[in-house]
Amino acid sequence: MIDLQAAIAVLVALLVGLAVGKAWERYKLSDGRWIDRRRARESPHYMLGLNFLVADQIDPAIEELTKAAQSAGDSLEIHLILGNLYREKGQVGRAIQEHQALLQRANLRKLEHANVLLCLGLDYKRGGFVDRALEAFSEVLRLDPGNEYALMNLEKLYEEQHQWSEAHATRQKLEAGALDADKPRHQRILAFLEDALGLQAAAANDPAAAERRFTAAIDLQPTIAPAHLHLGDVRFRQGDVTGAIAAWERLVRNSPDRAYLAFPRLEAAYRRAGDTVKFPALCRQLIEENPQDWRARLALASHTAAGGSAAEAIEILFESLVINPHALAVHQAIWEMLSTLELPKPLVQRYVELTRRSVFYVDPHICVRCRYRSTELLWQCPNCHEWDSFVEERIAPAKDADALA
Ligand SMILES: [Zn+2]
Repeated sequence: MIDLQAAIAVLVALLVGLAVGKAWERYKLSDGRWIDRRRARESPHYMLGLNFLVADQIDPAIEELTKAAQSAGDSLEIHLILGNLYREKGQVGRAIQEHQALLQRANLRKLEHANVLLCLGLDYKRGGFVDRALEAFSEVLRLDPGNEYALMNLEKLYEEQHQWSEAHATRQKLEAGALDADKPRHQRILAFLEDALGLQAAAANDPAAAERRFTAAIDLQPTIAPAHLHLGDVRFRQGDVTGAIAAWERLVRNSPDRAYLAFPRLEAAYRRAGDTVKFPALCRQLIEENPQDWRARLALASHTAAGGSAAEAIEILFESLVINPHALAVHQAIWEMLSTLELPKPLVQRYVELTRRSVFYVDPHICVRCRYRSTELLWQCPNCHEWDSFVEERIAPAKDADALA
């Protein structure tokens, strides 16, 4: 349903764009074609069609718009919309047919040509014809170099093909054409693309290039977690433990809510560097800064237990459990600790009390753009392809039972 609404938003945007363009041309054109357009708008079928569209009723919308097209001498814009509706219904072949027929028309002006190609590109993309979609969007850009829709769709296609340099170059064009207020959004995405390029360089055994890419990503977006992690990984693999620790500590500083991603790496690196106090100190500092930090507690508890203090560790785990009762990792750690302590009855009893009213469910990460759910934290949504759109949903038992009544 979200997809459909997004599609309709795109359609309405397209309609508005076309309407503005055509209104301007109405006075400019003398070949009389505008009369057809006006006739189209005057048709009751046109308005009815739009009403159905707004009400999410695609089939009656298609029916009315088809009638409107017939009564208006086959207006280009109505056929454009009809094609898009077929695509949204999943009838990609029909959509391609509809849009391809428009390309055969004589006297297509440059922008009309670009609009038709853009819709055709979306058809190809939807149908999985990647090469043809790439070709169509590139052609749109030849006709209309700044076309934002074409650039955005090209970038997504390149991303899907893991053609990161091309995706990066395309996003740079979007950023160059953007208003100052929108630049940070583009830079955030450029940072993720730099990170992807860095991973590619690392896989190709070029740690220097990888390091440059990860650093560029961090410069663009100082809070970007994967680039910090990967930068540390590249350094660690080259034996630069101090450099790796510096990269991971910077993640903890810049993005404390994602600090936990660096915990296992930091714990191992500190140990390798012969330091036994830094890791628990780091966890305690994070807990002090954010009392809700259940992951720092979990890490601190594991570290404490590994140091031989299971009784102390379980107290920390109980705190963690109260903050986030649906975290399986916490339950697992608690049971491990309880069994190490040979199941002391009072502790088991406390565990039962604490969990009694907890709500359990899986896939706590949710895409804020399309509501896609995932068990793990993802940097790019597999559903809507947005970057960095996942947040963690947490359900804790209500503080006051009466609040639920
Ligand atoms: Zn999404």
